[in-house]
Amino acid sequence: MSIKKVAVIGAGTMGAGIAGQVANAGIEVWLLDLPGDDNVNALAERGLERLRDPNQPGLISKQAEDFIHLGNTRDDFDQLADCDWIAEAVVERLDIKQDLYQRLDAVCKADAIITSNTSTIPIRLLVEDMPLSFRQRFAITHFFNPVRFMRLLELVRGGDTDPAVIALLADFCEQQLGKGVVPCLDTPGFLGNRVGVFAIQCALHAAFDLGLTPLEADAIFGRPMGIPKTGVFGLYDLIGIDLMSDVVQSLVNILPASDAFHAEAAKIPLMTQMIANGQTGNKQGQGFYRDAESGREVLHLESAQYQDAPRLNLPLADRAERLGVGQLLDDDSLHGQFAWRILSRTLSYAASLIPEVGEDPLGIDDAMKLGYNWIKGPFELIDEIGVDYFIGRLEADAMPVPQFLAEAAGSSFYRVSDGSLQARQFGGSWHSIQRPEGVIRFSEKRQTMLPINSNASASCYDLDGIALVEFHSKANALDADSMQILADALDQVESDGMRGLIVHNDAQHFSCGVNLQAVRNFFRREDMDGLDRFLKDFQETVQRMENANFPVVAAPVGMSIGGGFEVVLHAKQVVCHANSVTGLVESLVGVVPGGGGCKETLYRWIELLQCGDDISEACWKAFMNLGYGKTASSPIIAKKQAMLRANDRVVINRDRILGEAIKAIDDPAGQLAFDRPALALPGRPVFEEMVKWLEESCARGMFMPHDVNVGTEMARIVTGGDVEPGTVCSEQNFYDAERRSFLDLVATAATRERINSMLDAGSPVRN
Ligand code: NAD
Repeated sequence: MSIKKVAVIGAGTMGAGIAGQVANAGIEVWLLDLPGDDNVNALAERGLERLRDPNQPGLISKQAEDFIHLGNTRDDFDQLADCDWIAEAVVERLDIKQDLYQRLDAVCKADAIITSNTSTIPIRLLVEDMPLSFRQRFAITHFFNPVRFMRLLELVRGGDTDPAVIALLADFCEQQLGKGVVPCLDTPGFLGNRVGVFAIQCALHAAFDLGLTPLEADAIFGRPMGIPKTGVFGLYDLIGIDLMSDVVQSLVNILPASDAFHAEAAKIPLMTQMIANGQTGNKQGQGFYRDAESGREVLHLESAQYQDAPRLNLPLADRAERLGVGQLLDDDSLHGQFAWRILSRTLSYAASLIPEVGEDPLGIDDAMKLGYNWIKGPFELIDEIGVDYFIGRLEADAMPVPQFLAEAAGSSFYRVSDGSLQARQFGGSWHSIQRPEGVIRFSEKRQTMLPINSNASASCYDLDGIALVEFHSKANALDADSMQILADALDQVESDGMRGLIVHNDAQHFSCGVNLQAVRNFFRREDMDGLDRFLKDFQETVQRMENANFPVVAAPVGMSIGGGFEVVLHAKQVVCHANSVTGLVESLVGVVPGGGGCKETLYRWIELLQCGDDISEACWKAFMNLGYGKTASSPIIAKKQAMLRANDRVVINRDRILGEAIKAIDDPAGQLAFDRPALALPGRPVFEEMVKWLEESCARGMFMPHDVNVGTEMARIVTGGDVEPGTVCSEQNFYDAERRSFLDLVATAATRERINSMLDAGSPVRN
């Protein structure tokens, strides 16, 4: 059987998200909720509306909506008769779910698969009144919010579930819905929430007990630990303080009294008061943080008043972010104590759950990485810290050492043996980590290899005859070192006859652009020649990518913006994740894309619009993309915005991108040559029109004065500027024009002000 028609019951946060992801996969899906009074499908419509939220679009394109059919459980229940999979995502009430299953059993076909999205109710209870024939086709598919973006799917099997049903669901959710499927036992909170909520609660209580401000706590329990920068208070605001409190309460209800979670679950009076006051977080506009006219504010935990929230620079946090989590542990400041309290309790809690929740560390580590966006899972963190050091510190604090941790003494939880990555099993044996066929996580593969070339910003590996360049600087910002590794890799492919070049990494984001700090260093020294040389090297490297006589594939995940996207733009084929965000955002910091981005945007619009001799329309389109710093929230949208080309490929599961990129290297037919002939530019008339448009828009208050200067440079590059119409411009002329405009703008005080504020305050001033 294969899954061709799906129904989701319950169109709330999760149901709408699941239906959205099924539609993103191009599969028909009915989304049903209770019938409304005036508008019978109002609740399902509201679910679809949420998927359209521009800040967090649940759909990868407008066309995906065509796969969603809205309905209600009174009038449209017969639509379920030929559905292959029915995903239940109604409210967390056992009686309601059980009633629904009775109705489903009467309507659905005999081999339809039924799953629940429940977070807290054991399978045993869900189906206790159902016949065996139903129980065999029933499982829990526990998705995470927001469904499109969170990679984790916990797949829970009941005592009677047919293994073939689990296998089919695992394949479908992994390959078609793009999820990282983690098999779980039917234990309370499964894996992600069991450990994730524990860690959050631990951080929350530690911050209150040690008297840390939310700013301090979030500066430590964040990037320095390899955790998203929302930290703990920011995450509470994001999820909703009320909702998080409910989640905590539900875990309190289902975990046995002996579980260590209870010690971290006490209610905090200030938070009870905040919920009563409606200070429940981002959706209410105020929680631990709020945005005021004068900037961001933070709640003072003792006075319960809001205060300014200046950007906090903690040297300890910086050091840990650069050098690893171990830095936090050799520090006896309050911040160091905070870090140790969270890590000691959370990591040993994770170890204490083995073998109750599984036999090895992989499930918990995967769940935390895919469901909570941790860079490393708890066991990987212990390996980084050192098992013996960790045990020694626990013992020094008279804390218990769980058996699975004790078994690892003198060793680790993961190791490389015979060229493969292995995980420790409860009891002491090891087994190789097996991923589904076609799944390759470079973060894992890398551990079994040595780079052939490496510096602080990037490394190059020989992947069975293919050069793979991985950026690994902070936020993968590009500097001279990153570009040097790329240039060397191009040399090496040529000289060693390798099969091609892939630029890829397994980080959260492919690259957030050129390292602005490096740019600032140039202008602080007034070393404009040095900056010009950096840009020239950058351009020459990407130019070599486009002109290479071997396959060059970029395989980006997350964001590739600014200079990062300029690297992507010069690959002959892009194999990217369905959630990849792309765009040239340089205008925000007062510069033009200087690594071939302006000229590529123009050439691509000419291709997309199939312009004849008159390319004015393409010039306008390119000018708009660049000026507004447009980004595309999916590759489908990027293709419409001339950011990606027709041969570029979209992969829904990010764990399959590298495998697909390797296939692309070996299929040269997929590689699109760069045909970049000299262009006859529209010159002065269009340039003047654009400048006039900028000035008028500024006069109407739509742009700031310096936007006009930056926009003028973009107009100059794409039209040729103050020249006769028909003036011919070669590809090299475009590269030169980009560099000239970039340098001219960096010479201005206004651009320097934007770059300074971006680096120092985290966002560019509007000037
Ligand atoms: P929600 O409150 O946003 O939505 C629930 C929807 O179910 C509502 O639209 C409601 O009208 C509908 N509903 C109620 N009774 C119904 C019935 N008999 N028939 C059809 N529809 C009915 O809830 P949610 O957050 O989407 O949670 C849904 C399920 O997913 C719960 O089991 C929850 O535990 C689980 N879950 C939630 C999250 C999360 O982050 N919100 C994460 C993972 C799992």
